[in-house]
Amino acid sequence: MRMSGNDAAETSKIEVWWDMKDCPIPEGYDARRVRPSMERAFEKIGYTGPVSITAYGNQTQTPDHHLLALSSTGVAVVHTIVESTRSVMYRDMVEWRGQNPPPATMMIISDQVEGDFSWDLARLQQRTRYDLFQANSMKSRDDLLLVYYANWRWEQLLGEEGTPPLVTCGLSSAAMFYCKSCNFDCKSLKKFRKHLSSYKHGMEEAINPPDKQLLCVTKAWARNYPATPENATAKIHVLWDMNDCPIPEGYDARRVRPSIERALKELSYTGLVSITAFADQKQTPVHHLLALSSTGVDFSHTLPWVHYSRMITDFEIWTKDNPAPASIMIISDEVASSKDRSTLICRKLQESNYNCFLAYSVRPFEMPVLVTSAEWLWDNLLAVSETKRNILHKCSESERVVAASTGMFCCTLCLCDCKSLDDFNKHLASKDHTQEEKRMLSHTQAFPHRQRQYKISNYYDEARYPPKTKRTRNAPRKGFLPRSLRFTRR
Ligand SMILES: [Zn+2]
Ligand SMILES: [Zn+2]
Repeated sequence: MRMSGNDAAETSKIEVWWDMKDCPIPEGYDARRVRPSMERAFEKIGYTGPVSITAYGNQTQTPDHHLLALSSTGVAVVHTIVESTRSVMYRDMVEWRGQNPPPATMMIISDQVEGDFSWDLARLQQRTRYDLFQANSMKSRDDLLLVYYANWRWEQLLGEEGTPPLVTCGLSSAAMFYCKSCNFDCKSLKKFRKHLSSYKHGMEEAINPPDKQLLCVTKAWARNYPATPENATAKIHVLWDMNDCPIPEGYDARRVRPSIERALKELSYTGLVSITAFADQKQTPVHHLLALSSTGVDFSHTLPWVHYSRMITDFEIWTKDNPAPASIMIISDEVASSKDRSTLICRKLQESNYNCFLAYSVRPFEMPVLVTSAEWLWDNLLAVSETKRNILHKCSESERVVAASTGMFCCTLCLCDCKSLDDFNKHLASKDHTQEEKRMLSHTQAFPHRQRQYKISNYYDEARYPPKTKRTRNAPRKGFLPRSLRFTRR
C-alpha cells in the first residue's frame, strides 16, 4: 500500500532502524550501496529529507568489509545480542520519538514488527503521527495494525539503482560503533573489534545483557485525560452499538444524549455531539425510537453480519467531512475487546489522529489497541444524568441541540436515508428493502469467511451492482420536525 505523505514530512528527516539479521546484506552485495539505495527509494516517492540509518545486530558475526562499507557511508552500527535486537531497537525508536517531534519520517527494517511491537507503535501513532515506512524480507507477513506509507521488500529496496560514492564521503566522522551491552561507543572499527573481544565486554554481556522483553510504553498511559484546548470544543461523533450496550429496562431513553454530553462535559469536552445508534431497528421498541429521535439521535438499520462494518463505514464517511481536531466515541463491547473489530478503527485513528472515547458494558479483558482519552462502563455513563438533578432542564437543553442536528433514520443495507420514523418504518417494510436483505444474506453466505470485514464498497463491487439510492446524508437538512406527531404505530 502506498499513500502520499504530507509536504512537511517529505522534506523532514528520515530515521531508519535496521535489523541486520532479519534483513541481511546479500552475498556479494556492496554494502556501500545500502544507503544510496534507501535514499533513492525515498526520493522516488518524494521524500527528500536527510536519512540517518542505524544497523542492529550481533556485529561479531558481521565481516569487517561490511562494517567498513557501512560506516564509510554514514551508517551507525550497533552491537547487541540477537535476542535483544527487537527490544533494543524499539527502545531506541521510542527515545528518538521523544526527542524528534513530527513532522519526521520513520522506517523500520525488520521481520518482527508483529505482536507487542506493532501494538504499542500503533498506539503511539494514534496520539502522535509520523510518516511510517517498513521493509522486510519475503518471509514476513504484512502487518495490518500499522498504517505504512510504503512497505518495501528488502531485496527490492537494495535493488534500487543507487551508486556507491567513489570516495569516502565526509559523513564518516559522524558514523559510530555502539555496544548496547556496555553502553560503549567509538569511531574506529579497530577499537570496536577490540572492545567486542574484550573480557569486560564478555562478562557484561553474560551477566547483564539488554532486556529481551519489549517494553510497551503506552501500557502505563492513563485512561482519563482532560480535554486539550484544541479538542475541547471540537465535534464529537458517537457510534453506539445498541446490541452490546442496550437501553436498560425502565430507563428513559431521552436521557441517553444528556448523559453522554454530561460525562464529556465533566472532562471539559463541550463540542457538538452527534450520535448514531446501530442495530436491527426492527427490534428496537417504538418508544425508544421515538424518545431517542426526539433528542436528535440518528438511527442506522443494520443486520448482524454487517453490523460492525457499517459502524466503521459510517466513521469513515464522517472523517471525510471532519478533519482533526475532532473526537470519536465508540460504545461497543466488540470494538473495545476484539482485535479484528478494532483494527480498522485503529488504522483510521492513526491517519486522523482523532481523540477517541470508549464505552462498554463489560470492561475488556486486555487493554484495547485504541488509544482513548476516556473510558466508561455503559451503566455508569447512563447514570451520569441521574446523579444530577434538573433532568428536565437537561432534556430541554438537548432539544435545543436537536434543532441544529436533526435526527435521521438510515437503512445501511439500501443506503437510504429517511427523515421521519414513519418513512423509515415504511422503508423497512417495503419490497425493495426486503429484497435487499435477501440479496445481502445470500451474498454473505457465499463469502462466509469475509462477512465481518465487509465494507460497503467491497460489497457493491462483489455484488456487481451500484447502490440504488444515493445517500443524502450530506445534503442540507431541514429544520427540526416534531416527528413524534407524524408517527403512527403499525
Ligand atoms: Zn560491550
Ligand atoms: Zn433498506
